[in-house]
Amino acid sequence: MKTAAGLKACATGVAASVVFFASVAQPFRAAFSVAQAFRPAFQQQNPNAPQNFIKITGPVIALTHARVIDGTGAAARADQTLVIRDGSIAAVGDATAVTPPAGATVVDLTGRSVMPGLVMMHEHLYYTTGPGVYGQLGVSFSRLYLAGGVTTMRTAGNVNGIMDINLARRIEAGELPGPDIDATAPYVNGPSTFLQMHALKTGEEARRHVAYWNGQGATSVKAYMQISRAALKAAIDEAHRRHMKVTGHLCSVTYGEAADLGIDNLEHGFFAATDFVADKQSDVCPGQARGQQTIAALDENGEPFKALVKKLVDKHVALTSTLTVFETFTRGRPMPPGLDVLTPQLQDAFQRAYDRVQQNQQSVYGALFPKGMALERAFAKAGGLLIAGTDPTGAGGVVPGYADQRQIELLVEAGFSPVQAISIGTRNAAKYLGRDARIGTIANGKQADLVVVSGDPSTTIDDVRRVETVFKRGVGFDPVKLVDSVKGQVGIW
Ligand SMILES: [Zn+2]
Repeated sequence: MKTAAGLKACATGVAASVVFFASVAQPFRAAFSVAQAFRPAFQQQNPNAPQNFIKITGPVIALTHARVIDGTGAAARADQTLVIRDGSIAAVGDATAVTPPAGATVVDLTGRSVMPGLVMMHEHLYYTTGPGVYGQLGVSFSRLYLAGGVTTMRTAGNVNGIMDINLARRIEAGELPGPDIDATAPYVNGPSTFLQMHALKTGEEARRHVAYWNGQGATSVKAYMQISRAALKAAIDEAHRRHMKVTGHLCSVTYGEAADLGIDNLEHGFFAATDFVADKQSDVCPGQARGQQTIAALDENGEPFKALVKKLVDKHVALTSTLTVFETFTRGRPMPPGLDVLTPQLQDAFQRAYDRVQQNQQSVYGALFPKGMALERAFAKAGGLLIAGTDPTGAGGVVPGYADQRQIELLVEAGFSPVQAISIGTRNAAKYLGRDARIGTIANGKQADLVVVSGDPSTTIDDVRRVETVFKRGVGFDPVKLVDSVKGQVGIW
C-alpha cells in the first residue's frame, strides 16, 4: 500500500489513483485536500511522473558493443555502436565505423542485444477482475507494458470509454510513463450479455458511435462478436472516412464477409473464425465453441482454408496472433509469467482457473492451440501481414509486458525463426499502423524506441524476457522501477 506521504504526492498526479484512495480510505481525505491546497509544494514528488522511472537519459547517448537485431528479420549484427540524439537514432553501425560523439553518455552493452521497441496490437487497459467483469487497470498496465519492452501499443477494444484516450494523451504529453497508445473506441458490438458494452443495433447507431468516439480522441475501432454486417459496414465506412482502421474479434460475421466489407484487421488468428461452421446463419454468432471445433479440424493445406487466406491477403487484411490468451486455456502449458505483480486475490483466481484447465482432458484446445499456430504460419507464408498482441482477458493470467515477451516466444514455437518473430512484434505492426517510417526497426533517423536485453534473443528467444532498459524516444526507462511501483497491486488501479 502507499503511505500517506505517497498519497499527498498523488494529488498532483493521476486523478484515478486519488479517487481510489479517497473512496476507500476515509482518513486520507484530509491529507488529499491539504495536498491540493499546497499543490506547488508537492509537484517535485509526483510519484506518477515518468522521471521517477528513468535509468539513462541525456542529449546524446552512445550504446557501444551491442548486438543489434534490427526488426527487419535480418540476422543479428555483432559489436555495433548506436548513437541516440534528440530521441532519434543518429547513427548505427560497426564499432569500427561509428565513433561515440564527444560528450555522449556512453553505455557499454557487451553481452547484450538491442532490438526495436515492441509494437503490440491486441492490448487492453482492463483486466478480468471477476466473472464477466473487467476492471480498469490503465495506470499499472501502462507501466507494465513499458517495462516489458512495449513502446507502442494499440488497445484492441475498451469497456470504459475515456480511460484509454486520456492515458494516450497524458503519456504523449510526458505526464505519465507508458508506451505510445493507439486508443480504440469502446467496442462496436450488437446486443449481447456483456454488461460493459454498447448494443448498436443499426448501421446508423454504429456510425454515430464511431463518429462520437473519434471526436473524443479514439484513433481506432474494434468490432465484436455480436455485430451485424450492416452495423459493421457502417462502422468501417465512418472509420475510414476519419482515417481510422477497424479490427474485429468476430463471430456473427465471418472473416470472409468482414474482408468483403473492408475490414483492416482480424483478431485472434483464426481462433475466432466462423467461416467453416456448416449451418452458420447470417448475422448470428453460432457460439465461439462451434467455430473453434471447425478450426481445430481444419486442414491448413485444404482448399477452403487456402481460399480464405487468399481473400484476406488479396484484400490486405492483417491478422493478429494472440497465442498468449489461448495458451492459458490449453492443458499442459506452463504457468504464464508475471503473476506475482497481481493482487493476491487475482493470483488465487488465476491459480484456480489454471487448475481447472489442467483437469479438462476433453477441451478443444488440445488440438486447437497447435492448429491455430499452424494456420497463422500458413497465413504468413502465403504473404499475409501477421501482427502480434496478447489480450489480457480470458480467465486472467495474461499479464501486460510479461505476456508481450511470451507472445514472441510462442511465435517461435509456432515455427518462426527468432528474428522473424521479433519482426512480427515490431516492424509488421508498425507497417499496419502506417508508422514504419518512424518506428518498428532500427536504422538511421528512426525514433529511438529500443529494448536492451541481456543475452541474445536471435538464438535464444527466451532472452526477450531479460530486459535491462527500454528506450522510448531516446529516454531509457528502468523496468525494475516500473514493475516495483505496481507489484502486488495490479488489480486495483
Ligand atoms: Zn481482446
